[in-house]
Amino acid sequence: MNAETSPILRIESVAKKFGPVVAVDGVSIDVRENEFFALLGPSGCGKTTLLRMLAGFETPNAGRILLDGRDISPLPPEKRPLNLMFQSYALFPHMTVRQNLSYGLEMERLDKAEIRRRVDETMATTDLTQFADRKPEQLSGGQKQRVALARALVKRPKVLLLDEPLGALDKKLREKMQLELKRMQNEVGITFIIVTHDQEEALVMADRMAILKDGRLLQCGSPEEIYEAPADRFVANFIGVMNFIDGQVAEDGVFEAEGLRLALVNARPGPATLATRPENIAVGAPGERLAGTIADIAYHGLDRVLHVKTPATPVPMQVRVPASGAAYRVGDALSLKIDPARCRLFAGGAVG
Ligand code: ATP
Repeated sequence: MNAETSPILRIESVAKKFGPVVAVDGVSIDVRENEFFALLGPSGCGKTTLLRMLAGFETPNAGRILLDGRDISPLPPEKRPLNLMFQSYALFPHMTVRQNLSYGLEMERLDKAEIRRRVDETMATTDLTQFADRKPEQLSGGQKQRVALARALVKRPKVLLLDEPLGALDKKLREKMQLELKRMQNEVGITFIIVTHDQEEALVMADRMAILKDGRLLQCGSPEEIYEAPADRFVANFIGVMNFIDGQVAEDGVFEAEGLRLALVNARPGPATLATRPENIAVGAPGERLAGTIADIAYHGLDRVLHVKTPATPVPMQVRVPASGAAYRVGDALSLKIDPARCRLFAGGAVG
């Protein structure tokens, strides 16, 4: 994705209140053309409200929404060149797959041959051709989900909005559909904006994502940027697993906590929290670096996660080791080597 590309959608200082509740609090986001963009955050953070404002089902109290440089805020939902795919598939039960897809185009009074061509093309992209004559009740959950998607795509919106599109599927099917959705988005070349509360899902699918909390935008960036360089402690903890160590940076730039001294580059003196991922900690023999004792071991197939009690942390630190490596037992004493180049330092006091 070219960073120079002008945004197809610009969300400008948008706010929404429901009585005393501030659901969206001055959010600005640029979404680029052909991007797979995810809105991510814990329950109640305002992501659905933001999506509904884009679709035109809610009116912002402040701010503007520009599509291709044009303010679409005054337009009703049906006049906006974007389409919302609902969480519940909302398929017509008495119609076949083909009829479900054709319906919206017939309403637009397109000619019959054009409708047929577009529906055939969309069914091919979404692997539905063989189900063209089935009704929704004769389809599996994943197939129904594809019909809902196809029905949104067939209208060729500039932007497709998806609210928890995979929420109703079981874990296995969900993971399969994540990759399929990404493939289809690539194939049709339409900008997708998806709402999810599932971090893994956003990391797997999105080109870029926005992390929201309490109606505010905390960080916007690629999955790598957000995973490697989280803007604050909340983001660090929300995306993936993070270990936090409260301590102090001394005048010489060395981070000090109970049982730990770690030389860091460019660290400002003062109270700070060191954040490090489980995969950026190596296990050494007792006597080196931060001493700890294994409290728990979780097996994850390819690797194991050791939960290690240390004097520096109130809760055990998580350390990822290959499953095929050394054998560990609960109660083993070991020492942890934190890679100073792969950790983040957040200025300020203890983690809230
Ligand atoms: P979830 O993941 O649980 O769906 P969300 O991030 O999508 O959450 P929203 O549905 O956007 O969150 O809600 C944001 C806040 O606004 C919440 O505190 C919610 O209770 C409130 N809210 C949303 N819609 C309304 C409404 N129609 N009337 C009053 N409050 C609302």
